[in-house]
Amino acid sequence: KWKAFVRNNLITILTVIGVLAGTAVGCTLRSLSTQKWNQRETMYLMFPGEIFLRMLKSLIIPLLMASITSAVGSLDLTLSKKIALRSIVYYATTTVCAVILGIILVVTIRPGVGAEAVDKSEYEPALSRHVLTQDTLLDLIRNLFPPNLVQACVQQSQTVLFPPKNYSGDKDDVPSSELIKWPFKENYENTTNVLGLVVFSIVLGISLGQMGEKGKILVDFFQSLSEAMMNITSWVIWLSPLGVFFLVASKMVETDSFLGQLQRLGYYFMTVLLGLFLHGFGTISVIFFIATRRLPFKVIAQLSQVLATAFGTASSSATMPITIQTLDRMGLDPRVTRFVIPVGATINMDGTALYEAVAAIFIAQLQGKTLAFGQTVAVCVTATAASIGAAGIPQAGLVTMVMVLDTVGLPAEEVINILAVDWLLDRFRTTINVMCDCIGARLVDILSVGELDKHAELDRLNADPQ
Ligand code: ASP
Repeated sequence: KWKAFVRNNLITILTVIGVLAGTAVGCTLRSLSTQKWNQRETMYLMFPGEIFLRMLKSLIIPLLMASITSAVGSLDLTLSKKIALRSIVYYATTTVCAVILGIILVVTIRPGVGAEAVDKSEYEPALSRHVLTQDTLLDLIRNLFPPNLVQACVQQSQTVLFPPKNYSGDKDDVPSSELIKWPFKENYENTTNVLGLVVFSIVLGISLGQMGEKGKILVDFFQSLSEAMMNITSWVIWLSPLGVFFLVASKMVETDSFLGQLQRLGYYFMTVLLGLFLHGFGTISVIFFIATRRLPFKVIAQLSQVLATAFGTASSSATMPITIQTLDRMGLDPRVTRFVIPVGATINMDGTALYEAVAAIFIAQLQGKTLAFGQTVAVCVTATAASIGAAGIPQAGLVTMVMVLDTVGLPAEEVINILAVDWLLDRFRTTINVMCDCIGARLVDILSVGELDKHAELDRLNADPQ
């Protein structure tokens, strides 16, 4: 029995071992070396991991577009609408619950009270992005409507404010009343506009679905493309144990000062971790139980491969091919997974939402600020928006945090306070982001099973009226 288990789950077991061994080897190498590893040395150590990541990343755009378009296009509009509505309700409920849980924890544990803030002179200018909350929200909406699909594959809109000539350039708080007078420009950032591609694929899928027979040729094309991507994934997956090993080991070697920082940021770190754990296993189970009358632990138990990859890559998008493949193996309906997972990997980030709320309030606590009720509600809203806007790539949450900080009147560079441990928290929150997507897919699958069966039966009858 054991042998059969190991044979069936070989890759999963090896990938989990890869994460653990990567952590151990990375920590040992760091403690053995007398000098800090330089950038080039870490790059060499990461190289096999980098190749694995590049292979996964190359699948993202074709897989995302083909999966969503074929999933939406192969169902009739009423059924697609139902599946979409169920997913959106799940995404929204779980994200808001995650934010509220985060706020309750950070306000109760108060990790920032009494701790000292980091000296801002260490701050790296790359993070200096003065923006107004409304600019970030408008960017989010703008990115839903990409004017050019090819450009959307490589760039997304991002408003940038320019300091006026008389601005001294020091890092004092610039009040919003001042920022609003600054000149601005619609800029382009070099990241894939995944959100725009998702919206376009949904619309294309709806249109093909409505076209009936005429649209079928393209639906079949996208279905076949999506299958081809999954086939490639099943080859790439064999590299995941080695890939995550090198990714984790090189990260461990690179970050030398983090244990010291962990002392200062310990309570903050533990608050986020506790929140992620309670959300991932508590809140989500309750929501799953209310919706389906079942508990999700059996689903979670089958996700080790996905969770280890999410931890190793720190990217929901890069994990997406493996997520879809695993859910396929678990027997979920492809028309559900092909929609819920790509959309979820892009907009449903419960872990990120929880972390955004905790981090913003933690930073406010460091400054001795207490938030009024209205400001707490504003954190709730912006943390949700920030998690939707965050791309599924490493530490994207740190970038969209600017918007949450702005609502509590703090400048962007305050993120320096949490920078030291962010890479590690990122891995944990990505794991929870991906886990919640998978549980969501199972939930929608259970709720839609009857309708999907009926639809398949009708399709069969239409194809063969005898
Ligand atoms: N790395 C996260 C993800 O890919 C996003 C973030 O929170 O930074 O899901």
